[in-house]
Parts: sequence; structure tokens; C-alpha cells
Amino acid sequence: MNEKERGREVKTDFVKLAPSILAADFARLGEQVAEAEQAGADRIHIDVMDGHFVPNLSMGAPIVQSLRRVTCLPLEIHLMISDPDFFLEEFVEAGSDLFLVHWEGNGNLHRTVQRIKALGKRAGVVINPATPAAVLEEILQDLEQVLVMTVNPGLGHQHFLPTTLQKIRRVRHMIEQIKPGSDLEVDGGIDS
Ligand code: ZN
Repeated sequence: MNEKERGREVKTDFVKLAPSILAADFARLGEQVAEAEQAGADRIHIDVMDGHFVPNLSMGAPIVQSLRRVTCLPLEIHLMISDPDFFLEEFVEAGSDLFLVHWEGNGNLHRTVQRIKALGKRAGVVINPATPAAVLEEILQDLEQVLVMTVNPGLGHQHFLPTTLQKIRRVRHMIEQIKPGSDLEVDGGIDS
């Protein structure tokens, strides 16, 4: 690992903030990511949507490539797309550090997770609001991260769903039992 890569190591021992670029002014994206870094963000969250898996289109690997030049922070890629396996290499080449892939709609999640690890990157699995925590049981030991959606994926600026709080508690308990040290992340409608 060279010095530049070491700077991008994902820290694991405290509460972390991963601002989503979906909330940025895209005309000033580089500037705003630099501002987030200076303000103490721990990593940058990039929401990738294909207009099929979720009813919205966002950005692809070229954005990651551009952001890689303006920040030393780890770039975490939340893939809300139908065939994540097809795009992993492209995103790795662009400079991604961590992939978050959905449990929903993935016929072979274990294979996707192993592909991410074979590319030398951290792997996380995402579950939607209506998906029970129990689906994580068999895959959790292979993960560095779990992401519990606190809104339905696909659109920014939604309200936090309080019904997800119980599930967050259950997932934390499962992580402690099965893979202590994995990160638990929440995404959607999070404010102060
Ligand atoms: Zn996200």
C-alpha cells in the first residue's frame, strides 16, 4: 500500500459521516466535496442509479474518476443498479474504495461480494426499509459494512422512516454476534 492509498484507508473506530454527493450542487461538485472533506467528512458516498432498479438516474464511473482527483477521502459507491457485477471493475479503475450492493434483486449476492473482495475493495450489503434484518445472517461474515436504508432508495430529500429504528438495533446485535468490527451505516433522511 503506498502513501496515497494509506490516506484512503477506511477508519473503523468511531461514528463516521459519509455525505452523499446527491445533496451537492452538481455544477460545483468538486468544490463541494473539497468543502465536505475540510469540514470533517470521513468518506464520500456516491449514489449510482440506473433508472431501472430505482426510478431515477444519477451518475456513473466518470464522476468517480473526477472526484478521485479532488479528494483523498475514501469513495464509497452505493450501487442502486440491476447488474452491479458488470460495473465493478469500471468503478474500481475510476478510484472507488468501497462498494455497497443491495440484497434486493440480486440472485447471487455471495458472488457479487466475492467479486468485490477479489478486486481488493471493501464490501457492504444494503437492505431496503421493507427487507428484514434476517436476510443478512448468512452473508454478514463476508462483509465490512451493512447499510440499512432509512428511506426507500431512489430519491434525495426524503423523510427518515422511524420504523427502521428497530431494525437498526437488530442489525447492530447481529453484527456483534457474527462479525464484530463491521460498520453499520444508515442512509436517507438523516439530519442533525
Ligand atoms: Zn446511498
